[in-house]
This record gives sequence, structure tokens and C-alpha cells, in this order.
Amino acid sequence: MNFELSKEQREVKERAAEFADREVAPYAAEWDREARFPAEVFGKLSEAGFMGLCVPEEYDGVGADFLSYVLLLEEISCADAGVGVTLAVHTSAGTLPILDYGDEGQRERWVPDLARGEKIGCFALTEPSTGSDTAAIEARAERVDGGYRLSGHKQWVTNGRAAGTMVAFARAPEGVTAFVVGMHGEGISFGKHAEKMGVLSATTDDVILEDAFVSEEDRLGEEGKGLRVALGTLDGGRIGIAAQAVGIAEAAFRYAARYAAERTTFGKPIAEHQAIAFKLAEMQTKIRAARLLTYEAAWMKDRGMPHGEAGARAKLFASVAANEVTYEAVQTLGGQGYMKDHPVERYYRDARVTEIYEGTSEMQRLVLSRSIMRELAAPGGVEGSRPVVG
Ligand SMILES: Cc1cc2nc3c(=O)[nH]c(=O)nc-3n(C[C@H](O)[C@H](O)[C@H](O)COP(=O)(O)OP(=O)(O)OC[C@H]3O[C@@H](n4cnc5c(N)ncnc54)[C@H](O)[C@@H]3O)c2cc1C
Repeated sequence: MNFELSKEQREVKERAAEFADREVAPYAAEWDREARFPAEVFGKLSEAGFMGLCVPEEYDGVGADFLSYVLLLEEISCADAGVGVTLAVHTSAGTLPILDYGDEGQRERWVPDLARGEKIGCFALTEPSTGSDTAAIEARAERVDGGYRLSGHKQWVTNGRAAGTMVAFARAPEGVTAFVVGMHGEGISFGKHAEKMGVLSATTDDVILEDAFVSEEDRLGEEGKGLRVALGTLDGGRIGIAAQAVGIAEAAFRYAARYAAERTTFGKPIAEHQAIAFKLAEMQTKIRAARLLTYEAAWMKDRGMPHGEAGARAKLFASVAANEVTYEAVQTLGGQGYMKDHPVERYYRDARVTEIYEGTSEMQRLVLSRSIMRELAAPGGVEGSRPVVG
């Protein structure tokens, strides 16, 4: 077993950390306070090659592996979780499904602009009447001459207003179907701009489709096979959200540990009171465990192994850990932790959504418990979840 990153992965991690320290972290509190989408930072992410890091070079990406992309997300989210989720949705939900499920024409038509960062991608599955129950979507794709007309209400689309391309799902005659949609066509408008608890530098918007024309050529995969596209995309996307959660937790831990070393009560640093010292030990342990699960899932994806359950496990553990760690970070700072003078209250708010989007923690538990039941029913019984090695 080898826990070392490759030279290329280490370089990505170092470049991403340096970028995050210079271009993201100094402004994160301001973007949060103003709830502002920092469009300017995405130009810089593009110049650094970070908008298409794990996209093959033939489509104008950098050609790095998925684990490198996870390292990037972790570093960016450590500085600002809103920028982290924008990048995560752009890449894993807005770009990779076109590579994975599209034909050559679709890849050539849509992916290079996304990989170069000239367009931001988004993913529109959720509707006001349904989120977890993806098969219940109501948006319609009516067949017309040369393609489809899409109508419906897509809710909470991350990157919505900022996006140039959308992977959208609607019900066609044969069932739920995926489409690639240019955001500036007729029949596409924006509804409510969500006012959120956290990740305030990300924009989250309702997208209204009114007879929006999508040509036959831009149907992603077969008609009626859209849920396969949606669920397969989310299998990878969840690894990205796990990385986001690890990044937020790491930021909270570092801040709390430094504070605990400096703040004194009863004649010594609070880090020397066992109650606080043990908190730090637990926080660090949870982060390391979350990181290992996340890297394992990315490693499996890079090797073409089934990674749905590994991704669910990583997201479940990392998002719960991020909530626990940020909670304890606030507690470590006492009253200061509750104030906007310190970033831990932002980390606490930002962590909350990692248990909700790209599948709630309950849905991850459902995925994992069903797989345990399947293994139990299989000949030979359950071995639990099979370890990667051994
Ligand atoms: C900030 C933000 C950004 C988002 N970005 C996007 C995006 O870019 N694209 C997109 O398509 N969607 C997006 N979403 C939507 C998100 O994916 C959904 O909110 C999420 O999947 C949950 O769906 P829901 O909100 O409809 O909750 P519901 O499905 O109504 O669930 C409500 C509660 O019931 C639980 N529950 C539901 N069914 C079961 C069950 N069978 N067993 C046990 N518990 C169950 C859930 O876990 C949850 O606790 C975003 C959401 C947020 C908050």
C-alpha cells in the first residue's frame, strides 16, 4: 500500500494551495459578507488551468487525474467553500458528464470552452417538487421537428446565472432524458436567486424553461436513459463534495488550533486544558479519516473501478466530520467563535450544506445500506464493504 501522492499530484496540490492563499483566502470574508459571486477569480482559475484540470488535453484540458482535481478542490475550499462548490459543479456536474456520456460531436462542441473556463457549467436536476426522488422530476421534453422543447422549473442550480452551459434533465416520451443546453437560448430565464445560509460566494438560481429548443444532437445519451447520466454523474460529484468538506474542516481546525495555542485562561493556553486539547485531537483524526476515504474514492475512479459506494461513504463521512469539526472550532473560540471577526462562524455555516447537496446524508446511508443488504443476499454472505487492498 502506498499513501504517497505522485510528483504531478504534489505539484497540483502546491500550486492550488499557493493560488488559494493568494487569490481566494484574502477575499473570502468580503465575498461572504456581500454574498457576491467573484466572477474575476474564475478568469484566474482558467489561466492556472484549474477550470479543466481533469479534462483530457485533446479537449483543451490539462489532462490531470481525478485525484489531482480532488486535491485542487480541497485547497480551494479550505480558502472559500463557495468558490470550491462553483468549481466542483462546473467540473464534475457540468463538464464530465458530457465527456462520459456524450458522443464525439458533443464533446468537441461543448467541452473545450468549459475546460478553458470560457464558459461555466451547471447541472439542473432538482425541481420545487422533488430533490432526492430524482425519478419524480416533472420538467417536460416535448419532441418536435429536429429536437425537443423543454419546459419546467429547475430549482437551486449552482452557477445558474453565471453559467454558459447546462446539463439539464427533463421527461421525454421514453422517460427522463439528459440534454446539454446553451444558457443564452430563447425560452431560458432565471427565477429566484437563492438567499442561503452559507457558501455565499456561489450563486444558486432557479432556471425557468419555457419551450426552450434543444436539437436532437444535444440530447446526452439515449432518450429515457437520463437517470443513468444523473446518478453516474453524482457518483463522481460526491467525491468532489467530500473534498470540499475536508477543505472546510481543515480550515476550521487550523484556525482553532492556532487560537487555542495563544488564548490563555486560568494561567495557561486553552490548548493545555484537556477539554480543548482532546477536541483538537478528535478534529484532526476525523479530518484525516475523511481525507483518506475521499482519496480512496478518487483513486478508485481513476482506475475505472466502480466508485458509487466509495463516493457515498466518503461524502457521508466527510460532510458529517466537517459539521462536527466546524462546530467544535466555534466552541474552541468561545464567544469569539460566534463573531464575524473570525472565520470559524463562516466555516460552520458553509459546512452545513455538504450534508445536503449532491445527495443528502440520508440518501448516502440508503445507498450504503442497500449495498450491504445486496452483499448479505449474495452467495457467501457479507464481507462488509470490500477493502481496496487485501
Ligand atoms: C446550496 C444548494 C445548491 C444546490 N445545487 C444544486 C444544483 O446545482 N443542481 C441540482 O440539481 N440541485 C441542486 N441542489 C439541490 C440538492 O441536490 C437537493 O436539495 C438535495 O438533493 C435534497 O433534495 P430536497 O432538498 O428536495 O430534499 P427532499 O428530497 O425533500 O428531502 C427532505 C428530507 O427528507 C430526507 N429524505 C428524503 N427521502 C428519503 C428517504 N427515502 N429516506 C430517508 N430520508 C429521506 C432527506 O434526506 C432530507 O433530510 C442544491 C441545493 C442547495 C441547498
